[in-house]
Amino acid sequence: MLINNTLPWHDAIWLKLTDDVSKLPHAILFSGQTGIGKVRLAKRFANFLLCDSPIEKEACGICKSCKLLEAGTHPDYILITPEEKKKIISVDQTREVSRQLQLKSHIAKRKVAVIYPAESMNTNAANSLLKILEEPPLNNIIILVTNKISHLAMTVKSRCIKIVIHLPDNEIATSWLQTQQSSTSSDDTISLLKCAGGAPLLAETLFAKDFPGTRLQLLSDVSGIARQQSDFSACAKRWKEAGADLCLMWFQGFLADLIKITMVKTAKTSSNLPGLTNIELSSDLKLPKKALNLRQLFEFSDVLSESRKLLSAPMDELLLIEDVLIRWQDLMKA
Ligand SMILES: [Zn+2]
Repeated sequence: MLINNTLPWHDAIWLKLTDDVSKLPHAILFSGQTGIGKVRLAKRFANFLLCDSPIEKEACGICKSCKLLEAGTHPDYILITPEEKKKIISVDQTREVSRQLQLKSHIAKRKVAVIYPAESMNTNAANSLLKILEEPPLNNIIILVTNKISHLAMTVKSRCIKIVIHLPDNEIATSWLQTQQSSTSSDDTISLLKCAGGAPLLAETLFAKDFPGTRLQLLSDVSGIARQQSDFSACAKRWKEAGADLCLMWFQGFLADLIKITMVKTAKTSSNLPGLTNIELSSDLKLPKKALNLRQLFEFSDVLSESRKLLSAPMDELLLIEDVLIRWQDLMKA
């Protein structure tokens, strides 16, 4: 087990999971928002369950099982994710899981299957998994991981023991992130964490994708579109290249800032602005000078949430982003 796979905010859950393996349920569902390490936890746990001789409630890292797992060739470990360039887990994939779980393990005490994101299973795929979730043979264990538990079929959920992974405290998340990105200033760390909605692994991904630079481009794009000075298709193309979901997630944070500012203005109080993710909004970002309507801002926020949901299905991302940007322009000139 690689030591850097452990995340401090998983400690309490880890103790419970590893307390008594003989009492473990056969189907476990980890849920929680993106970027808090659920998949890492699932893989660490699978490693622990497959290890020949765990040491102090961790996989040993040196046995045959641990070595094979590290090499990605463990015959008793089944990892199911959407096939490349597809967004769904197909019935063929879940049937294969069921088939393999019917067989005896090769070298470990059991077989372990990890499926994520579980909400990507289409109806047929989910249905084909039900029987194995109910009666998994031979001590085998299935771990499902989901970012969107509400999208998961009730029939699947009801057959699993649900474990909710929560967002870590801001302090724990910040200090963890700083140990990972020692070259980043603490202001940048805090800003990245805010953009990631408090999810540390997502913040780490944002850093790796040079998100501080992308964010400035996105700010310039929304400002340009709002002032009718930027081209929809050029912006949409940039957003698609930078990652449609990432850009829309950032746009949600931007809108939350705009809502905060509008609320303070509407209340006509002298209270200070609560912490903004995009500090430029309070000073030098150019937007049309118009009184914003809170109801319309909330409606637009719903549009962004809906659009992000649509992204999880196969669709034309460019058109979707263009549509969002056109609505944004309409909102700002209405
Ligand atoms: Zn081991």
